[in-house]
Amino acid sequence: MKADRRAFAQNTRGFLPSDEGDALYEAASNLNVGGPLLEVGSYCGKSAIYLGTAAEEQGRALYALDHHRGSEENQAGWEHHEPDLVDSEVGKLDTLPIFRKAIHGAGLEHVVVAIVGDSVTVAKHWDTPLAFLFIDGGHGIQPARDDYNWWVPKVQIGGLLAIHDVFPDPKDGGRPPYECIYLPAVESGDWAEERIQGSLRILRRIS
Ligand code: MG
Repeated sequence: MKADRRAFAQNTRGFLPSDEGDALYEAASNLNVGGPLLEVGSYCGKSAIYLGTAAEEQGRALYALDHHRGSEENQAGWEHHEPDLVDSEVGKLDTLPIFRKAIHGAGLEHVVVAIVGDSVTVAKHWDTPLAFLFIDGGHGIQPARDDYNWWVPKVQIGGLLAIHDVFPDPKDGGRPPYECIYLPAVESGDWAEERIQGSLRILRRIS
């Protein structure tokens, strides 16, 4: 990844550590199947810059899906709440303006396509097989189950699934991404683990 783009990504607002961003970029740069990339849970755009850069270099697109109202843990009173992201007129979080600024600033508007909406609603009408899926959406049990059930089957054989905030030890963080996405994928026998980087897991579909 070119140094200036990488520096921009590192300075973009968000909770993705740099080493995990680099791992996303590297994985998404080593795809051997066709098709677009899609991420569930874009927040302020940090991961979209790493993945969008890989997409740009390969002539692909990254679809960046988020309702931009924040996950449970971003709401008032929760661990990752950032009060300045609240739209005071609406009384809800709105990360879309920050996301758009980040993608514009990175020079990736021609590659990164924002989809603003509910994950399941979009998934129900999504038919394009994916080369790469990154799940970093709602971290509650139901949103995690929904993302697993609705999005994971859309990755084609040979494609990659990246899951963020996977914490096998409950002391390290919330369990749904581990229990409702990572474990079912591994136990299905359809996925082989390719890389572990911090709380990021990258799996390749083998059947
Ligand atoms: Mg995350």
